[in-house]
Amino acid sequence: MPLTRWLAEYAWLPDHAEPTADVLIEAEDGRITAVTPLVGGGAPATGVEVLRDAVRLPGLTLPGLANAHSHAFHRALRGRTHGGRGDFWTWRDRMYDVAARLDPDSYLALARAAYAEMALAGITCVGEFHYLHHGPDGQPYADPNAMSAALVEAAAHAGIRLTLLDACYLTATVDGAPLAGPQRRFGDGDALRWAERVGAFRPENDHTRVGAAIHSVRAVPADQLATVANLADRAGVPLHVHLSEQPAENDACRALHGCTPTRLLADHGVLGPGTTAVHATHPTSADLALLGESRTGICLCPTTERDLADGIGPARQMAEAGSPLSLGSDSHAVVDLFEEARAVELDERLRTRRRGHFSPVELLTAATVAGHAALGWADAGRLAVGDRADLVTVRLDSARTAGVPPVGAFFAATAADVSHVVVDGRVVVADGRHLTVDVPAELRAAIGEVTA
Ligand SMILES: [Zn+2]
Repeated sequence: MPLTRWLAEYAWLPDHAEPTADVLIEAEDGRITAVTPLVGGGAPATGVEVLRDAVRLPGLTLPGLANAHSHAFHRALRGRTHGGRGDFWTWRDRMYDVAARLDPDSYLALARAAYAEMALAGITCVGEFHYLHHGPDGQPYADPNAMSAALVEAAAHAGIRLTLLDACYLTATVDGAPLAGPQRRFGDGDALRWAERVGAFRPENDHTRVGAAIHSVRAVPADQLATVANLADRAGVPLHVHLSEQPAENDACRALHGCTPTRLLADHGVLGPGTTAVHATHPTSADLALLGESRTGICLCPTTERDLADGIGPARQMAEAGSPLSLGSDSHAVVDLFEEARAVELDERLRTRRRGHFSPVELLTAATVAGHAALGWADAGRLAVGDRADLVTVRLDSARTAGVPPVGAFFAATAADVSHVVVDGRVVVADGRHLTVDVPAELRAAIGEVTA
């Protein structure tokens, strides 16, 4: 790829408390090669004439946003589960209805549209927590990784990077009830057979990494946890796990094992800096210490947690304990990392009735570099020389953002204000339009096919 230059009206550079005006960003072969503030820093080393062919980026340019927790097919449920009462568990029945209907072709179509919506929202990398492994009756497809391959292809079409977090999912309850009905297609039998299948999946491209996941302590028995953790550790890949999203999971774990899910994971070697716990909405103070001291990351999914009536996790305490925070849109009730980021602060205000828990830079970090790190991309999420050339430009002249200082963008902008997205040096979104996917049309068609 040839050298490309962008001139950002504002850019949020690493270690800066607020955005910098007039920044020249240069990239070659998908990597940032120079970042030069023009005001105060003078002309770029190569001379002012280079500015003539620079692509102008009006508004605020951020590093790529990372969506650290996704179940692509949940996008089909948006707006369809609000007709009655219920809770997480009644919502899950509706989700299983969709899960039962997908095959590799419809999964590809739905994920491609969902990932393209993410691209429009400035998400340059997604962590797909994937457990729809086999045919509806639990029989593997001829290619046992056909569903994984569909996700890899979907991300390629949408133009974003993918960390495929292949989830081990073996049982229906903490006390080991077998998978039944729509859950049968999630299971590989035991952790060794899960490892064998995952080990055989090696997508050869630059936009995909394969990581591991433990669905939850509900779905992986205690004696199987270490097998998954060891595989992730040996391979040096990210390991994600749903944790304490519901008090019922804590209660069931205590009843069987006499300890919290966090303690159980700690005792079986699951926690550590390569691990990300998703949600952790209902931890004890001892759980927070275990997570923080082990440097286990925590992925918060505030819009899903509010949609499913999960509760509010103690985000500030998590950060104080030492856990890096990342963000995920999870069920895709909302795909908007600006909303996820400000919800971390705003939910804390509701919980404590005080303001000012997270700085704008902390929210930016959760949405960018921490999310990428949680997904195994140490070279992304900063506008820095050597990093992947991911640029996300947010309009500052929309009805929502006009008059807002650039530093306030995370409290004002929405996904609809993202105008320009570059992933690995390639333009994916320009003037608010995805260059290759008609996102509304494809969403409508793909969702229609699995809900009709
Ligand atoms: Zn999830």
